[in-house]
Amino acid sequence: MLRKTTLASLALALCAPLAGLAVAGAQAAEEDTYYPTKGNPGVDVYRYALDLTWKPGERTLSGTAAIRMQATAPATSFALDLHRKMLVSKLTVNGVDTAFTHDGKDLVVKTPVVPATPYLVEISYAGKPRTVKAPTSRVDDDKLGWHTNDRGHAWTTQKPYGAYTWYPVNDHLSDKALYDIKLTVPDKWVGVSNGRLDNKVTEGGETRTHFVNTSPMAPHLVTVAIGPYKKYTQVGPHDLPLTYWLPKGRSDLLKPLERTPDTLAWLESRLGPYPFDRAGVVVTPGLGTVETQTLTTFALDNFKQGSADVREQVAHNLAHAWYGASVTPNDWRDNWMNEGVATFLQAKFAVSQGHDTWKFWKREFTRNDGYYREIYGPPGAYFPKQFGQRNVHYGGALLMERLRAEIGTDLFYAALQEWPAQNKDKNRGRATYIDFLSTRSGQDLRPWFEAWLMSGETPAS
Ligand SMILES: [Zn+2]
Repeated sequence: MLRKTTLASLALALCAPLAGLAVAGAQAAEEDTYYPTKGNPGVDVYRYALDLTWKPGERTLSGTAAIRMQATAPATSFALDLHRKMLVSKLTVNGVDTAFTHDGKDLVVKTPVVPATPYLVEISYAGKPRTVKAPTSRVDDDKLGWHTNDRGHAWTTQKPYGAYTWYPVNDHLSDKALYDIKLTVPDKWVGVSNGRLDNKVTEGGETRTHFVNTSPMAPHLVTVAIGPYKKYTQVGPHDLPLTYWLPKGRSDLLKPLERTPDTLAWLESRLGPYPFDRAGVVVTPGLGTVETQTLTTFALDNFKQGSADVREQVAHNLAHAWYGASVTPNDWRDNWMNEGVATFLQAKFAVSQGHDTWKFWKREFTRNDGYYREIYGPPGAYFPKQFGQRNVHYGGALLMERLRAEIGTDLFYAALQEWPAQNKDKNRGRATYIDFLSTRSGQDLRPWFEAWLMSGETPAS
């Protein structure tokens, strides 16, 4: 998410493992073009069950991860990502104690694996989680993973990676999986995560929550927030449950969020039916806002920009439910596929609310694209150490606006709905997207996209 005002703000059970294979998504055949040390194309996870305890006084996180997975190729061992500060005390595969090594963030499990065979990997671990440096100069997203503050509150931001700072994971957007997350925290606090809150119990000095996700989710879209939270609920279009987790004593933050049903209805009129079973916002003490699935991780700091801006940011992050969460690129080089649409629609939403004119936004897109293509690279080939910058957001939005002019407004908006409808819960890269648009428009758009994605200068048309 980016704000328009300042650059600085560039903002299961063992019995049914095979059932999960159908939702595992298309695993990337190769390492990520941009961040090849994160994730492992040899592993395809289809369910994580995390049972974690946070002790804020000691800043320790401990618990178990039960990972149901298969291998994509025969191998004598396989690796998951887990930060070296998280120490593994026990690891079993299909219930059998298994040897492992843990050098750096590579947790290598020393057992042979073959494709199309389900494995249950159970890992007990504990440690004092810490963030890792983000591959960007953005100041709101300079650290990734498990954050804490001086009061021991905890929250996560992990785009494009960083989930491995707090659980063993195949930390790549191409490996979507189902998540079941249990959190145990001090009794005056609540552990919050994505999905449906199945259970919340406070006893013995602890609060335990259990969240269930019924749609596959990429690791960067998982969120956890722990602190003194109060829950508010609302009903959206088609009785969609909406949940807002706000810091206790900050009910004032609710006001701009309460317009979310209208925002969702506005988005559905452009993008088609909302792709998940719920939506919501958790407000965290950090600076970074992330479009985490079914529950946007919204930085408290962002409320300083005022109600109109908050509503635009909610619109941007909800647009990612269609573009980014339900349909997800399979390589981080295609972040423009998410940010282009989300920023384009955020601007359209701002205009629809009378916040700005379309002329203002087109000028912003053009100005930023011209400037930041040179500084951070073209939208489809950004510099790897400048993740999530304006070249991808504003350049991507300008690309969408020019695409509308190229193929016509009616076809553009029809395709905007058809793409997520046809690719729900999947991973799709630029080639498939461009083929889809070429077929849909009856014109070969490959040269057009090549210029817009890869050129060092803004194309003329
Ligand atoms: Zn975004």
